[in-house]
Amino acid sequence: MTMSALGEPCVLLKLGEIVLKGKNRELFERRLISNIRDALQELGLKLDVRRRHGVIAIFLPDGSSAEQALAVAERVADVPGLVWIHPAWRVAKDPDAVLKAGVELIGEREEEVARKATFAVRSRRRDKRFPLRSNELDRFVGGAINDAYGLPVDLRKPELTLSIEVDRDEVFVFTGGLPGQGGLPVGSSGRALVLMSGGIDSPVAAYRMMRRGLHVDFLHFSGIPFTTSESIYKAYALVRKLDRFQGKSRLWVVPFGKAQQSIRNSGQDRLAVIAQRRLMLKTAEEVAHRIRAAALVTGDALGQVSSQTLTNITAQDHAVELPILRPLVGWDKTEIMAEARRIGTLEISELPDEDCCSLLAPKRAETRAKIEDLKQIEKRLDAEELAVQLADSIQEYTL
Ligand code: ATP
Ligand code: MG
Repeated sequence: MTMSALGEPCVLLKLGEIVLKGKNRELFERRLISNIRDALQELGLKLDVRRRHGVIAIFLPDGSSAEQALAVAERVADVPGLVWIHPAWRVAKDPDAVLKAGVELIGEREEEVARKATFAVRSRRRDKRFPLRSNELDRFVGGAINDAYGLPVDLRKPELTLSIEVDRDEVFVFTGGLPGQGGLPVGSSGRALVLMSGGIDSPVAAYRMMRRGLHVDFLHFSGIPFTTSESIYKAYALVRKLDRFQGKSRLWVVPFGKAQQSIRNSGQDRLAVIAQRRLMLKTAEEVAHRIRAAALVTGDALGQVSSQTLTNITAQDHAVELPILRPLVGWDKTEIMAEARRIGTLEISELPDEDCCSLLAPKRAETRAKIEDLKQIEKRLDAEELAVQLADSIQEYTL
Protein backbone atom coordinates (compact mmCIF):
# COMPACT_ATOMS: atom_id res chain seq x y z
CA MET A 1 0.00 0.00 0.00
CA THR A 2 1.17 3.51 -0.76
CA MET A 3 0.92 6.34 1.76
CA SER A 4 -0.65 8.57 -0.84
CA ALA A 5 -4.21 9.88 -0.47
CA LEU A 6 -4.55 9.87 -4.22
CA GLY A 7 -6.18 6.49 -4.73
CA GLU A 8 -5.89 4.77 -8.13
CA PRO A 9 -4.58 6.37 -11.33
CA CYS A 10 -7.08 6.29 -14.19
CA VAL A 11 -7.96 8.27 -17.32
CA LEU A 12 -11.18 10.21 -17.83
CA LEU A 13 -12.36 10.94 -21.38
CA LYS A 14 -14.75 13.68 -22.49
CA LEU A 15 -16.83 13.02 -25.59
CA GLY A 16 -17.06 15.50 -28.46
CA GLU A 17 -19.88 15.95 -30.93
CA ILE A 18 -21.39 12.60 -29.96
CA VAL A 19 -23.14 14.31 -27.06
CA LEU A 20 -25.32 16.13 -29.61
CA LYS A 21 -26.62 12.83 -30.97
CA GLY A 22 -30.11 11.77 -30.04
CA LYS A 23 -31.30 8.23 -30.53
CA ASN A 24 -28.08 7.14 -32.27
CA ARG A 25 -25.80 8.19 -29.46
CA GLU A 26 -25.60 4.65 -28.12
CA LEU A 27 -24.22 3.40 -31.44
CA PHE A 28 -21.61 6.13 -31.68
CA GLU A 29 -20.46 5.57 -28.12
CA ARG A 30 -20.09 1.86 -28.66
CA ARG A 31 -18.04 2.47 -31.79
CA LEU A 32 -15.87 4.94 -29.90
CA ILE A 33 -15.22 2.52 -27.04
CA SER A 34 -14.30 -0.21 -29.48
CA ASN A 35 -11.87 2.17 -31.26
CA ILE A 36 -10.34 3.13 -27.90
CA ARG A 37 -9.83 -0.52 -26.96
CA ASP A 38 -8.19 -1.23 -30.34
CA ALA A 39 -5.84 1.75 -30.01
CA LEU A 40 -4.80 0.77 -26.51
CA GLN A 41 -3.93 -2.80 -27.42
CA GLU A 42 -0.39 -1.86 -28.38
CA LEU A 43 0.32 -0.81 -24.78
CA GLY A 44 -0.14 -4.40 -23.60
CA LEU A 45 -1.87 -3.39 -20.36
CA LYS A 46 -4.97 -4.99 -18.95
CA LEU A 47 -7.32 -2.03 -19.06
CA ASP A 48 -10.94 -1.66 -18.13
CA VAL A 49 -12.78 0.82 -20.39
CA ARG A 50 -16.18 1.83 -19.03
CA ARG A 51 -18.99 4.13 -19.97
CA ARG A 52 -19.97 6.43 -17.16
CA HIS A 53 -22.89 8.73 -17.62
CA GLY A 54 -21.64 10.91 -20.47
CA VAL A 55 -17.93 10.25 -19.94
CA ILE A 56 -15.67 7.25 -20.45
CA ALA A 57 -13.32 6.08 -17.71
CA ILE A 58 -10.28 3.87 -18.24
CA PHE A 59 -9.13 1.99 -15.17
CA LEU A 60 -5.62 0.59 -14.99
CA PRO A 61 -4.63 -2.61 -13.19
CA ASP A 62 -3.97 -2.36 -9.44
CA GLY A 63 -0.62 -0.88 -8.58
CA SER A 64 -0.26 1.05 -11.87
CA SER A 65 1.70 4.29 -11.86
CA ALA A 66 0.79 7.82 -12.89
CA GLU A 67 3.28 7.42 -15.77
CA GLN A 68 1.31 4.46 -17.11
CA ALA A 69 -1.91 6.48 -16.91
CA LEU A 70 -0.16 9.23 -18.86
CA ALA A 71 0.92 6.74 -21.56
CA VAL A 72 -2.69 5.59 -21.85
CA ALA A 73 -3.86 9.22 -22.09
CA GLU A 74 -1.33 10.04 -24.81
CA ARG A 75 -2.39 7.10 -26.94
CA VAL A 76 -6.10 7.85 -26.55
CA ALA A 77 -5.50 11.50 -27.47
CA ASP A 78 -5.16 10.33 -31.11
CA VAL A 79 -8.55 8.62 -31.23
CA PRO A 80 -11.17 10.83 -32.96
CA GLY A 81 -14.39 11.49 -31.05
CA LEU A 82 -12.88 12.84 -27.82
CA VAL A 83 -12.35 16.46 -26.84
CA TRP A 84 -10.43 16.09 -23.56
CA ILE A 85 -8.33 13.37 -22.02
CA HIS A 86 -7.62 13.75 -18.31
CA PRO A 87 -5.13 11.57 -16.46
CA ALA A 88 -6.97 11.45 -13.11
CA TRP A 89 -7.14 9.84 -9.70
CA ARG A 90 -10.01 7.69 -8.58
CA VAL A 91 -10.90 8.52 -5.00
CA ALA A 92 -13.48 7.14 -2.54
CA LYS A 93 -16.84 8.90 -2.47
CA ASP A 94 -16.24 10.79 0.70
CA PRO A 95 -15.62 14.54 1.10
CA ASP A 96 -12.57 14.05 3.37
CA ALA A 97 -10.94 11.62 0.91
CA VAL A 98 -11.54 14.11 -1.90
CA LEU A 99 -10.08 16.94 0.16
CA LYS A 100 -6.91 14.98 0.95
CA ALA A 101 -6.46 13.94 -2.67
CA GLY A 102 -7.00 17.52 -3.88
CA VAL A 103 -4.43 18.92 -1.48
CA GLU A 104 -1.88 16.26 -2.43
CA LEU A 105 -2.45 16.69 -6.16
CA ILE A 106 -1.91 20.46 -5.97
CA GLY A 107 1.18 19.81 -3.82
CA GLU A 108 2.67 17.83 -6.71
CA ARG A 109 2.63 20.96 -8.87
CA GLU A 110 5.79 22.14 -7.15
CA GLU A 111 6.66 24.91 -9.54
CA GLU A 112 3.24 26.61 -9.34
CA VAL A 113 3.09 26.15 -5.56
CA ALA A 114 6.56 27.70 -5.12
CA ARG A 115 5.59 30.85 -7.02
CA LYS A 116 2.16 31.03 -5.39
CA ALA A 117 0.18 30.66 -8.60
CA THR A 118 -3.54 31.39 -8.55
CA PHE A 119 -5.92 28.44 -8.45
CA ALA A 120 -9.56 27.40 -8.59
CA VAL A 121 -11.45 24.27 -7.69
CA ARG A 122 -14.20 23.22 -10.06
CA SER A 123 -16.53 20.46 -8.97
CA ARG A 124 -19.29 18.67 -10.85
CA ARG A 125 -21.72 16.11 -9.58
CA ARG A 126 -22.95 13.47 -11.93
CA ASP A 127 -24.38 11.82 -8.83
CA LYS A 128 -26.51 14.35 -6.98
CA ARG A 129 -26.69 12.20 -3.83
CA PHE A 130 -23.22 13.31 -2.75
CA PRO A 131 -23.53 15.10 0.64
CA LEU A 132 -21.95 18.39 -0.57
CA ARG A 133 -23.23 20.44 -3.47
CA SER A 134 -20.72 21.49 -6.13
CA ASN A 135 -20.08 24.98 -4.78
CA GLU A 136 -19.83 23.64 -1.24
CA LEU A 137 -17.27 21.07 -2.35
CA ASP A 138 -15.33 23.81 -4.19
CA ARG A 139 -15.07 25.84 -1.01
CA PHE A 140 -14.35 22.85 1.21
CA VAL A 141 -11.40 21.68 -0.88
CA GLY A 142 -10.30 25.17 -1.96
CA GLY A 143 -10.11 26.31 1.68
CA ALA A 144 -7.85 23.38 2.55
CA ILE A 145 -5.54 24.09 -0.41
CA ASN A 146 -5.36 27.72 0.62
CA ASP A 147 -4.51 26.70 4.21
CA ALA A 148 -1.88 24.20 3.08
CA TYR A 149 0.03 26.30 0.53
CA GLY A 150 -1.27 29.86 0.77
CA LEU A 151 -2.21 29.98 -2.91
CA PRO A 152 -4.64 32.77 -3.89
CA VAL A 153 -7.97 31.86 -5.46
CA ASP A 154 -8.84 33.25 -8.90
CA LEU A 155 -12.12 31.98 -10.26
CA ARG A 156 -11.89 33.85 -13.58
CA LYS A 157 -8.48 32.93 -14.94
CA PRO A 158 -6.76 30.53 -12.56
CA GLU A 159 -3.27 29.28 -13.44
CA LEU A 160 -4.06 25.95 -11.78
CA THR A 161 -7.43 24.25 -11.88
CA LEU A 162 -8.32 21.33 -9.69
CA SER A 163 -11.26 19.44 -11.19
CA ILE A 164 -13.45 17.19 -9.09
CA GLU A 165 -16.08 15.02 -10.72
CA VAL A 166 -18.44 13.08 -8.50
CA ASP A 167 -19.61 9.92 -10.23
CA ARG A 168 -21.84 6.97 -9.33
CA ASP A 169 -19.19 4.80 -7.67
CA GLU A 170 -16.25 7.13 -7.16
CA VAL A 171 -14.87 10.64 -7.44
CA PHE A 172 -12.35 11.66 -10.12
CA VAL A 173 -9.79 14.31 -9.23
CA PHE A 174 -7.38 15.87 -11.74
CA THR A 175 -5.46 18.96 -12.81
CA GLY A 176 -5.22 19.62 -16.54
CA GLY A 177 -5.43 17.22 -19.47
CA LEU A 178 -4.63 16.68 -23.10
CA PRO A 179 -6.83 18.07 -25.88
CA GLY A 180 -8.40 15.34 -28.02
CA GLN A 181 -8.88 15.25 -31.79
CA GLY A 182 -12.58 16.11 -31.64
CA GLY A 183 -14.85 14.88 -34.43
CA LEU A 184 -16.66 11.55 -34.64
CA PRO A 185 -15.51 7.97 -34.03
CA VAL A 186 -13.81 6.45 -37.07
CA GLY A 187 -16.14 4.01 -38.81
CA SER A 188 -19.36 5.72 -37.75
CA SER A 189 -19.72 7.34 -41.20
CA GLY A 190 -18.72 4.36 -43.34
CA ARG A 191 -15.70 3.73 -45.58
CA ALA A 192 -13.93 5.75 -48.26
CA LEU A 193 -10.88 5.52 -50.51
CA VAL A 194 -8.29 8.31 -50.36
CA LEU A 195 -6.25 9.16 -53.45
CA MET A 196 -2.92 9.53 -51.74
CA SER A 197 -0.01 11.25 -53.45
CA GLY A 198 3.26 11.76 -51.62
CA GLY A 199 2.38 15.44 -51.25
CA ILE A 200 1.24 17.65 -48.40
CA ASP A 201 -2.48 17.87 -49.10
CA SER A 202 -3.81 14.35 -49.43
CA PRO A 203 -2.66 13.11 -45.98
CA VAL A 204 -4.37 16.12 -44.39
CA ALA A 205 -7.52 15.41 -46.40
CA ALA A 206 -7.43 11.80 -45.18
CA TYR A 207 -7.09 12.92 -41.57
CA ARG A 208 -9.97 15.39 -41.84
CA MET A 209 -12.28 12.70 -43.22
CA MET A 210 -11.26 10.20 -40.53
CA ARG A 211 -12.29 12.84 -38.03
CA ARG A 212 -15.71 12.95 -39.62
CA GLY A 213 -16.10 9.25 -38.95
CA LEU A 214 -14.86 7.66 -42.18
CA HIS A 215 -12.56 4.68 -42.12
CA VAL A 216 -10.28 5.13 -45.12
CA ASP A 217 -8.11 3.00 -47.35
CA PHE A 218 -5.35 4.59 -49.43
CA LEU A 219 -4.67 4.39 -53.16
CA HIS A 220 -1.36 5.62 -54.55
CA PHE A 221 -0.46 5.96 -58.24
CA SER A 222 3.21 5.39 -58.90
CA GLY A 223 5.02 6.29 -62.11
CA ILE A 224 6.60 2.84 -62.16
CA PRO A 225 8.29 1.60 -64.36
CA PHE A 226 9.41 5.12 -65.40
CA THR A 227 10.07 6.46 -61.89
CA THR A 228 11.77 5.01 -58.80
CA SER A 229 9.86 3.49 -55.89
CA GLU A 230 10.50 6.51 -53.67
CA SER A 231 6.95 7.82 -53.91
CA ILE A 232 5.67 4.44 -52.73
CA TYR A 233 7.91 4.56 -49.66
CA LYS A 234 6.64 8.04 -48.93
CA ALA A 235 3.01 7.03 -49.30
CA TYR A 236 3.70 4.07 -47.02
CA ALA A 237 5.36 6.28 -44.39
CA LEU A 238 2.43 8.69 -44.54
CA VAL A 239 -0.11 5.90 -44.13
CA ARG A 240 1.83 4.60 -41.11
CA LYS A 241 1.74 8.05 -39.59
CA LEU A 242 -2.00 8.36 -40.18
CA ASP A 243 -2.77 4.86 -38.96
CA ARG A 244 -2.65 5.88 -35.34
CA PHE A 245 -5.88 7.85 -35.86
CA GLN A 246 -7.88 4.91 -37.23
CA GLY A 247 -5.99 1.58 -37.21
CA LYS A 248 -6.19 -1.23 -39.80
CA SER A 249 -5.06 1.04 -42.66
CA ARG A 250 -4.34 -0.45 -46.07
CA LEU A 251 -2.33 1.07 -48.88
CA TRP A 252 -2.92 0.04 -52.49
CA VAL A 253 -0.43 0.96 -55.19
CA VAL A 254 -1.22 1.27 -58.90
CA PRO A 255 1.69 0.99 -61.38
CA PHE A 256 0.60 3.92 -63.50
CA GLY A 257 3.60 4.75 -65.72
CA LYS A 258 2.47 2.95 -68.88
CA ALA A 259 -1.02 4.43 -68.73
CA GLN A 260 0.52 7.88 -68.40
CA GLN A 261 2.63 7.18 -71.43
CA SER A 262 -0.50 6.37 -73.44
CA ILE A 263 -2.09 9.64 -72.33
CA ARG A 264 1.01 11.55 -73.38
CA ASN A 265 1.03 9.81 -76.74
CA SER A 266 -2.58 10.84 -77.34
CA GLY A 267 -1.14 14.23 -78.31
CA GLN A 268 -3.40 16.58 -76.32
CA ASP A 269 -0.66 18.13 -74.27
CA ARG A 270 -2.69 20.77 -72.48
CA LEU A 271 -5.37 18.31 -71.42
CA ALA A 272 -2.99 15.59 -70.28
CA VAL A 273 -3.08 16.46 -66.58
CA ILE A 274 -6.88 16.43 -66.35
CA ALA A 275 -7.14 13.32 -68.52
CA GLN A 276 -4.71 11.62 -66.19
CA ARG A 277 -6.61 12.77 -63.09
CA ARG A 278 -9.84 11.41 -64.57
CA LEU A 279 -8.18 8.07 -65.26
CA MET A 280 -6.96 8.00 -61.64
CA LEU A 281 -10.50 8.64 -60.46
CA LYS A 282 -12.00 5.97 -62.73
CA THR A 283 -9.44 3.48 -61.45
CA ALA A 284 -10.12 4.54 -57.88
CA GLU A 285 -13.85 4.07 -58.41
CA GLU A 286 -13.27 0.54 -59.66
CA VAL A 287 -11.10 -0.23 -56.62
CA ALA A 288 -13.64 1.42 -54.30
CA HIS A 289 -16.37 -0.91 -55.57
CA ARG A 290 -14.16 -3.91 -54.91
CA ILE A 291 -13.36 -2.92 -51.33
CA ARG A 292 -16.85 -1.50 -50.63
CA ALA A 293 -15.82 2.10 -50.17
CA ALA A 294 -18.70 4.54 -50.74
CA ALA A 295 -16.76 7.69 -51.63
CA LEU A 296 -13.43 8.94 -52.97
CA VAL A 297 -11.35 11.54 -51.11
CA THR A 298 -8.79 13.92 -52.64
CA GLY A 299 -6.64 16.77 -51.34
CA ASP A 300 -7.89 19.28 -53.92
CA ALA A 301 -8.18 22.93 -52.85
CA LEU A 302 -10.03 25.31 -55.12
CA GLY A 303 -7.63 27.24 -57.34
CA GLN A 304 -4.45 25.83 -55.79
CA VAL A 305 -3.07 24.62 -59.14
CA SER A 306 -4.42 24.66 -62.68
CA SER A 307 -5.99 21.20 -62.32
CA GLN A 308 -8.06 22.55 -59.44
CA THR A 309 -9.96 25.40 -61.09
CA LEU A 310 -13.72 25.18 -60.76
CA THR A 311 -14.07 24.00 -64.37
CA ASN A 312 -11.42 21.32 -63.96
CA ILE A 313 -12.78 20.11 -60.65
CA THR A 314 -16.17 19.78 -62.33
CA ALA A 315 -14.57 17.81 -65.17
CA GLN A 316 -13.19 15.44 -62.56
CA ASP A 317 -16.55 15.02 -60.84
CA HIS A 318 -18.02 13.99 -64.19
CA ALA A 319 -15.51 11.16 -64.60
CA VAL A 320 -17.08 8.99 -61.89
CA GLU A 321 -20.37 8.27 -60.21
CA LEU A 322 -19.09 8.00 -56.66
CA PRO A 323 -19.02 11.25 -54.70
CA ILE A 324 -15.58 12.88 -54.49
CA LEU A 325 -15.05 14.38 -51.06
CA ARG A 326 -12.64 17.32 -50.93
CA PRO A 327 -12.33 18.40 -47.31
CA LEU A 328 -9.61 20.97 -48.14
CA VAL A 329 -11.52 22.70 -50.93
CA GLY A 330 -11.73 25.97 -48.98
CA TRP A 331 -8.32 25.86 -47.30
CA ASP A 332 -5.25 28.01 -47.94
CA LYS A 333 -1.91 26.29 -48.45
CA THR A 334 -0.60 27.81 -45.20
CA GLU A 335 -3.55 26.36 -43.29
CA ILE A 336 -3.00 22.94 -44.85
CA MET A 337 0.70 23.05 -43.97
CA ALA A 338 -0.01 24.01 -40.36
CA GLU A 339 -2.39 21.07 -40.03
CA ALA A 340 0.14 18.73 -41.70
CA ARG A 341 2.73 19.84 -39.15
CA ARG A 342 0.33 19.28 -36.26
CA ILE A 343 -0.58 15.72 -37.31
CA GLY A 344 3.03 14.86 -38.10
CA THR A 345 2.83 14.28 -41.87
CA LEU A 346 4.57 17.45 -43.10
CA GLU A 347 8.13 16.27 -42.64
CA ILE A 348 7.42 13.10 -44.62
CA SER A 349 5.59 14.97 -47.39
CA GLU A 350 8.52 17.34 -47.76
CA LEU A 351 11.01 14.56 -48.49
CA PRO A 352 12.08 14.65 -52.14
CA ASP A 353 10.52 12.14 -54.52
CA GLU A 354 9.72 11.63 -58.14
CA ASP A 355 5.98 12.11 -58.26
CA CYS A 356 4.27 10.34 -61.13
CA CYS A 357 2.67 13.67 -62.09
CA SER A 358 6.09 15.04 -63.11
CA LEU A 359 5.96 12.67 -66.07
CA LEU A 360 3.21 14.82 -67.50
CA ALA A 361 4.11 18.44 -67.07
CA PRO A 362 2.88 20.40 -70.07
CA LYS A 363 4.27 23.88 -70.69
CA ARG A 364 0.79 25.32 -70.40
CA ALA A 365 -1.93 23.37 -68.64
CA GLU A 366 -5.55 23.90 -69.60
CA THR A 367 -7.51 25.68 -66.87
CA ARG A 368 -10.90 25.22 -68.58
CA ALA A 369 -10.92 21.67 -69.82
CA LYS A 370 -13.98 20.74 -71.89
CA ILE A 371 -15.55 17.45 -70.98
CA GLU A 372 -16.24 16.66 -74.67
CA ASP A 373 -12.51 16.98 -75.47
CA LEU A 374 -11.61 14.77 -72.52
CA LYS A 375 -14.11 12.15 -73.66
CA GLN A 376 -12.45 12.11 -77.08
CA ILE A 377 -9.10 11.28 -75.52
CA GLU A 378 -10.69 8.65 -73.31
CA LYS A 379 -12.40 7.00 -76.25
CA ARG A 380 -9.05 6.57 -77.97
CA LEU A 381 -7.52 5.20 -74.78
CA ASP A 382 -10.50 3.01 -73.99
CA ALA A 383 -10.30 4.54 -70.53
CA GLU A 384 -13.05 2.47 -68.95
CA GLU A 385 -11.32 -0.78 -69.85
CA LEU A 386 -7.94 0.65 -68.90
CA ALA A 387 -9.28 1.59 -65.44
CA VAL A 388 -10.40 -2.01 -64.88
CA GLN A 389 -6.98 -3.30 -65.95
CA LEU A 390 -5.25 -0.84 -63.65
CA ALA A 391 -7.50 -1.90 -60.78
CA ASP A 392 -6.54 -5.51 -61.54
CA SER A 393 -2.86 -4.63 -61.25
CA ILE A 394 -2.93 -3.02 -57.77
CA GLN A 395 -0.66 -4.26 -55.02
CA GLU A 396 -1.63 -4.20 -51.38
CA TYR A 397 0.71 -3.02 -48.65
CA THR A 398 -0.52 -3.79 -45.14
CA LEU A 399 1.11 -2.17 -42.15
P1 ATP B 1 -0.97 16.69 -52.77
O1 ATP B 1 -0.13 15.93 -53.72
O2 ATP B 1 -0.45 16.72 -51.42
O3 ATP B 1 -2.36 16.25 -52.70
P2 ATP B 1 -0.84 18.76 -54.69
O4 ATP B 1 -0.99 20.18 -54.54
O5 ATP B 1 0.41 18.19 -55.22
O6 ATP B 1 -1.06 18.15 -53.26
P3 ATP B 1 -2.18 17.67 -56.99
O7 ATP B 1 -0.91 17.04 -57.42
O8 ATP B 1 -2.82 18.63 -57.88
O9 ATP B 1 -2.09 18.28 -55.53
O10 ATP B 1 -3.20 16.52 -56.74
C1 ATP B 1 -4.51 16.76 -56.31
C2 ATP B 1 -5.06 15.50 -55.68
O11 ATP B 1 -5.04 14.40 -56.60
C3 ATP B 1 -4.20 15.01 -54.52
O12 ATP B 1 -4.53 15.66 -53.31
C4 ATP B 1 -4.52 13.55 -54.46
O13 ATP B 1 -5.73 13.30 -53.79
C5 ATP B 1 -4.66 13.21 -55.94
N1 ATP B 1 -3.37 12.72 -56.47
C6 ATP B 1 -2.43 13.41 -57.15
N2 ATP B 1 -1.37 12.63 -57.47
C7 ATP B 1 -1.64 11.41 -56.97
C8 ATP B 1 -0.96 10.15 -56.94
N3 ATP B 1 0.25 10.01 -57.50
N4 ATP B 1 -1.54 9.10 -56.33
C9 ATP B 1 -2.76 9.24 -55.76
N5 ATP B 1 -3.46 10.38 -55.74
C10 ATP B 1 -2.91 11.46 -56.33
MG1 MG C 1 0.54 16.12 -55.55
